[in-house]
Amino acid sequence: MGEYYLGIDLGGTKIAGLIGDEQGKIIAEKTIPTLAEEGVEPVINRIKNIILELMGEVTPGQVKGIGLCAPGPLNIKTGEVMHAPNLKWKNVQIVGILEKEFGLPVILENDANAAGYGECIYGAGKGAVNMLYMTVSTGIGGGIIANGELVYGRDYCAGEVGHMIVLPGGPLCGCGQHGCIEALASGTAIARTARKRLEDGEQSIISDLVKGDINTVTSREVAEAARQGDQLAVSLLDEAFFYLGIAIGNLINILNPETIVIGGGVAKMGDLLFDRVSRVLQDHAFPHMVKGVSIVPAVLAGRAGTMGMVALVRKRLNS
Ligand SMILES: [Zn+2]
Repeated sequence: MGEYYLGIDLGGTKIAGLIGDEQGKIIAEKTIPTLAEEGVEPVINRIKNIILELMGEVTPGQVKGIGLCAPGPLNIKTGEVMHAPNLKWKNVQIVGILEKEFGLPVILENDANAAGYGECIYGAGKGAVNMLYMTVSTGIGGGIIANGELVYGRDYCAGEVGHMIVLPGGPLCGCGQHGCIEALASGTAIARTARKRLEDGEQSIISDLVKGDINTVTSREVAEAARQGDQLAVSLLDEAFFYLGIAIGNLINILNPETIVIGGGVAKMGDLLFDRVSRVLQDHAFPHMVKGVSIVPAVLAGRAGTMGMVALVRKRLNS
């Protein structure tokens, strides 16, 4: 009888769950809405229910452990989610709650770290020992794997690559600083800059793509316009991905990774992002380190977090 591991990815809009075997083969899978607005208790009950349903699909005793990833900040040592604004969670001892309920070992992990580890073990970074994972979406998050291990730092907060400041005095970031890459290259930042330039009267087919309703512009329309050669869109993405490239260059010099995996909605722009970042790197990092690094799109998509937790539980139980 094979040994299975159960991974849960607790997000602001959905809870994804999956049972995987030792090789990462998916045995059972389920996704439900989080409904965070209903409060903390109902969400915890939905987590318990999805775990129960998944376990019902395999032989009792086959699942050896449970791993849950959630937005931070959280403490993987104490098993506590300290503060997750999207979930309205404050100081929730989720590991204790689930261990008591299921009588199995439970581990907690930051969602970006889990996704990074998932890509490293089963996804685009498979085989890498030194890997940088970045998710470029409404925000920018990341996970760092060095010598095969996630880098945690003193308070388990390491890997906040989105808050690398590349333009001191630049646009205000959600973290309170100015000029972080999240404030310059995230989907939110690209859309905000596009709206501002359109409001200032610049001409672009982006306006046509949203039928004149500038307030509804997202980074998706900017990408579509750039593909059609629209000058404003091209310059917006050139600028955003210039800063992203500067940040990645710094990280290459510091970490010397063999693989960089970039996921998230903005990474779906494909060559618009990857080509630009590669060009910027030619001039902004040590050539010998840039030459050896492969920069690739994430492949696990919505499963990166759950697959990462399967890998992490398995590792924890076998070490
Ligand atoms: Zn920031």
